[in-house]
Amino acid sequence: MADDDSVDALLALLNSTPVTDGVAEDLMADPAHAADLARRFGGQGTTSEVRELARARDGLQEAVRTGTVGDELDQILHDVAQAPSPLTPDGLRWRLAGPAATLPAARAIITWSELAADKPGRLRPCGNPDCRRFLIDRSKGNTARWCSMATCGNRMKARRHYSRQQARETT
Ligand SMILES: [Zn+2]
Repeated sequence: MADDDSVDALLALLNSTPVTDGVAEDLMADPAHAADLARRFGGQGTTSEVRELARARDGLQEAVRTGTVGDELDQILHDVAQAPSPLTPDGLRWRLAGPAATLPAARAIITWSELAADKPGRLRPCGNPDCRRFLIDRSKGNTARWCSMATCGNRMKARRHYSRQQARETT
């Protein structure tokens, strides 16, 4: 099961290419922000970790938007394995082993996979077609549509109101 910190980090990663007022941004272009994201997935914040994490992000965004999984995600996971940690009186624990550069990216993919198993269909793109963010629907009825009610929710409401008004004026 995906823990809350990992899920928050995954959402931050997926939402690192926002479009605001029609302008696309890549928050990972900022080295400090990108390194921070890599650390949130257990990395050191190195440039090679960041490069792999950006690949994972692009692949995961595609997977959430289209439901298809590209080869790049498999490539990231290729040399990664779960290995037993030294035994403690509490029993056996597993750690992720593999090339250091790919571990944060692999953790992002694993979190996405665990989230899909824990909460099927709850991670999805924002309902505003002009927005490239994602949301995790934690509502009971699974009815959340916007990455944020304050921005996209209100904007879409205003747009619907405007088009209804236009329709009235033209009839
Ligand atoms: Zn949105």
